[in-house]
Amino acid sequence: MKVLTKQVNMWINNQEVHSGDFYEIKDPGRHTDIVANVAKGTIENADHAVRAAHEAYLSWREMSVSERIQKVLTAIEQLEQSMPELCPLASREHGGLLSEAQTDFGYGVGGTQATAGIAEAYLAPQVFENESAIVEVHKKPRGVFIAIVPWNYPVSITMMKLAPGLISGNTAVVKPSPNSPAALTMALQRMAKVLPPGVINVVNGDGDVAKVLTTHPLVTKISFTGGTETAKHVMAAAASSIKKLTLELGGNDAAIILDDVNANRIMPDLVKGIFSRAGQICFAVKRVYVPQTIYRTFSNTLCEYVNEIKVGHGLDERSTMGAINNQAQYQLVKNLIDQSKRSNATVFELGKKVQPEEWDNGYYILPTVVRDIEHTADLSCNEQFGPVIPLIPYQSVEQAIEMANDSMYGLGSSVWSSDVDRAAEVARQVEAGFTFVNGHSIDKIDIRMPFGGVKQSGMGREFTEFGISEYIEPHAIRIR
Ligand code: NDP
Repeated sequence: MKVLTKQVNMWINNQEVHSGDFYEIKDPGRHTDIVANVAKGTIENADHAVRAAHEAYLSWREMSVSERIQKVLTAIEQLEQSMPELCPLASREHGGLLSEAQTDFGYGVGGTQATAGIAEAYLAPQVFENESAIVEVHKKPRGVFIAIVPWNYPVSITMMKLAPGLISGNTAVVKPSPNSPAALTMALQRMAKVLPPGVINVVNGDGDVAKVLTTHPLVTKISFTGGTETAKHVMAAAASSIKKLTLELGGNDAAIILDDVNANRIMPDLVKGIFSRAGQICFAVKRVYVPQTIYRTFSNTLCEYVNEIKVGHGLDERSTMGAINNQAQYQLVKNLIDQSKRSNATVFELGKKVQPEEWDNGYYILPTVVRDIEHTADLSCNEQFGPVIPLIPYQSVEQAIEMANDSMYGLGSSVWSSDVDRAAEVARQVEAGFTFVNGHSIDKIDIRMPFGGVKQSGMGREFTEFGISEYIEPHAIRIR
């Protein structure tokens, strides 16, 4: 085995910390390579991090908003400068393409700059005055917040929390996922160094660490991105002291294809929406509803495009799709494909293997299209979070909308048509946090769109003023 990088420690009060116990991070695209050894925290480390964040909060909250914005923008320069060194590491520990790691860092930088651009106006106190009353409304920070993040886009998801949280005067303890902690931890160390000690802390760890962080009396807020089942545990822990929650959870995004669509024109964007990051995106297209009248020709065209995908190691320039991040996710996706093969559905395993001889040394899955599948099948109803897509036929647009909304999830969604107005009319009837017309991928995210889901896809929003509002507590003062 090759050790490709040095040990990555936790970060508490602007110092590197380790407990002597480490996670060995292997490359999901080449199991024989160890990518990093990342320090694993203890309950003492978790408590220390929260206390350091609380100590820092007492002076951080006293700074003006503009001063905090300047400091956060200086920190984000560190993130940007770290990209050439850390993106290859991020790609290796995740299993995704180098370009996807660059997108992750790039959105972290861009999202923070966008939040910085609107924060000062939003956080300014409001004053209402007439003959009978003077009322001031101040937007106060809440204190220490915990940012719990998943492995799929670790940097941008962390920055969606840190940017509004820190700028509004709170301080943070970040808990990365053990499935991609190294590049994120190193990036946060560089950002934290240019901020006062304790403003950003990073603690890795298992369930006991998560329990300390989510129940600690000095923690006032938890911002969690991850699976819906995990979120239920986080909610239960937060209940112990009524902590405020922002939850960005799973999705089962529907793409509704209308019958006037130009299949060849939309296919590059649709394929990107389904298979980018090997489908491991919370708002990836996870089920496609196709009119019965064009079902056969549409699915043939989709298969032709999907067949061009080249699956291989994330740092191999020939690859257009990388590996699955971890064993559990790999097995879940494999099981859904096997189950579809045993049903009446038709399964097409497409694409090409970049290095066939390395295939079994990574969590690789060929991009797979499942045709003639029911809306009620497991693959249609559950979040696959991987490179397999069900194509479900429909008879009428009303039926397509009904099936799209027949889900416990409601994160993203999309409607595809040659008539944008017709598509927008359908989009307005979809139950989701956001709906795109003729697109459904990360480059369709507009920073002016509040990001988050309805139903069991979460609560609260990120980005925009809605995102900042998750980190403040209004304080109303009636003076007269
Ligand atoms: P998980 O829910 O398994 O884990 C998310 C994070 O929560 C990890 O850091 C995990 O750490 C931690 N965690 C696990 N148990 C607890 C607990 N009891 N208390 C506190 N923290 C805990 O999600 P994945 O990392 O597997 O990510 C995939 C999921 O995330 C998918 O469902 C996806 O849809 C969703 N997601 C949602 C997004 C959105 O914005 N809506 C964006 C990206 C992903 P550990 O592994 O150490 O337990």
